[in-house]
Amino acid sequence: MPTAESLRSDATFDQMDLSDEMLAALAKAGYEHPTPVQAGLIPRALDGIDVMGQARTGTGKTAAFAIPILEGLRGDVKRGPQALVLVPTRELAVQVRDEFVKLAEGQRVRSVALYGGKPIRQQIEKMRGGVDVAIGTPGRLLDLMQRGALSLGDVDIIVLDEADRMLDIGFRPDIEKILRRAPNDRQTLLLSATIPPPVERLARKYMDHPEVLNFSPAEISGDTIDQYYFTVDGERKFDLLVALLEREQPKQAIIFCRTKRGVDKIHHRLQRKYPDAECIHGDLAQRVRDRVMAAFRAGKVRLLVATDVVGRGIDVSGISHIINYDIPQFCDDYVHRVGRTGRMGREGVAYTFVAPEEGNELTRIEVRINRLLDRAEIAGFETIAKPTGDPSALDELADGEEAPAPKPPPFGRGGRMPRRYRRAL
Ligand code: ADP
Ligand code: MG
Repeated sequence: MPTAESLRSDATFDQMDLSDEMLAALAKAGYEHPTPVQAGLIPRALDGIDVMGQARTGTGKTAAFAIPILEGLRGDVKRGPQALVLVPTRELAVQVRDEFVKLAEGQRVRSVALYGGKPIRQQIEKMRGGVDVAIGTPGRLLDLMQRGALSLGDVDIIVLDEADRMLDIGFRPDIEKILRRAPNDRQTLLLSATIPPPVERLARKYMDHPEVLNFSPAEISGDTIDQYYFTVDGERKFDLLVALLEREQPKQAIIFCRTKRGVDKIHHRLQRKYPDAECIHGDLAQRVRDRVMAAFRAGKVRLLVATDVVGRGIDVSGISHIINYDIPQFCDDYVHRVGRTGRMGREGVAYTFVAPEEGNELTRIEVRINRLLDRAEIAGFETIAKPTGDPSALDELADGEEAPAPKPPPFGRGGRMPRRYRRAL
């Protein structure tokens, strides 16, 4: 099993032509060697080239764009930001801002997180003295632009972190508006663990002859993560969850549910047994979300019941377990949820609860990640999966827009599904 060792590349930060201040900040952060995505992306980004970078969850994509951004800042005091980083969630905006602050140690760089749910006045106030790096969610950024509090005229570089999510239908109109307001000769970087081909094609519209760098081998989900599934009837899921938590005693876990109401319900029931359980989703007040995330980062919250609001980008080193209480709707969401553990070569384990009629969803995930999940069992919870119908239909499913299959077909020559794929057995 690969360890943090194998994440290291032969390259060193010293070879990269970085400033003394940056090298000192990296040493202070404990970053001894660049990860592969950093070794590959930083020199290209410093050259001013547009890059689409795909690399697995937890391999240091944030620093891969933060380092060249910080190195490229012009010392002159501008009012507007010289770099803009777009992220899908508020929690991620805060986390990315903190990474910039860490790597800008010893330099006079003003990095601000701009996101909704917090009084906009405070954020306008923060920008009054000028901003170098703005990290924000699209809605709040547009709001600030419309109020004349944020101008993109000085922007040299724009990053779309979690790019496929940002170019997804929900965010795309906002992203387009933002990009139109930025100078045309800016540099654009796109990062994600998952960049399906349709997104890659779309992304080219916003970029200038981008270089595509893919650091994910065929297996796009972390290979330091053990991944299992349980077949379980809907009404027995909660009892299975408790049995699993008792058996595993996770250091920290995220329990993903599909809906906000589902999160509330499971959290409510779980908290009776585990007082160190908390929940997070988009309907909670931002100050509650901030408090919960801070407690989770500090290790005070052990079990976090959540929607996909923390499915992407969140980096908390104590997370040992991911439990998909509800199987994710889209296979790429699976990759991101599971990627909250097993970061920087650490080990992690992920369990996915699959209802007997959800066999197709499980297969789609397995096709997407090019890997079979192992079946897990706990005594007393054995359930037989229902037939999933014509197995060849799954080949087509795998070619669907939102779930492009990795090529070549994952199931050996000819792409034929092996016997154990027929969940009916
Ligand atoms: P990704 O965006 O690829 O999921 P992150 O940027 O969130 O990954 O980084 C994951 C973790 O790795 C963070 O805790 C970060 O501090 C750490 N990290 C990043 N680069 C290095 C490095 N070169 N050496 C050691 N740790 C690093
Ligand atoms: Mg990230």
